[in-house]
Amino acid sequence: MTHVIFDLCIRDGACVEVCPVECIVPGEPEEQWPWFYIDPDTCIDCGACVPECPVDAIRPEEDLGTEFPQYVGATELNAKFFKEGPGYPAKK
Ligand code: SF4
Ligand code: SF4
Repeated sequence: MTHVIFDLCIRDGACVEVCPVECIVPGEPEEQWPWFYIDPDTCIDCGACVPECPVDAIRPEEDLGTEFPQYVGATELNAKFFKEGPGYPAKK
């Protein structure tokens, strides 16, 4: 399982600070990837990011199909960002 970010995200970055495995990445370019994204292969489901989000835009994957059916596609989008999109920024 993984946690998932969806379209309520306002890109303030609060979740990034607390993730112990650094698997939350801002989407760039913003026009194409408007949220922050969680790498499903790395997320350990610790839940630390959830209370940090001021707009409640992070949920465990399983909640999206039940509590929030309108966001069900967000799971695929988060994964797509890392598989087909830009993914992790290059190390400087
Ligand atoms: S649940 Fe934990 S590991 Fe997964 S993105 Fe949030 S802070 Fe990172
Ligand atoms: S804390 Fe919430 S609003 Fe801020 S970047 Fe993370 S998901 Fe987006």
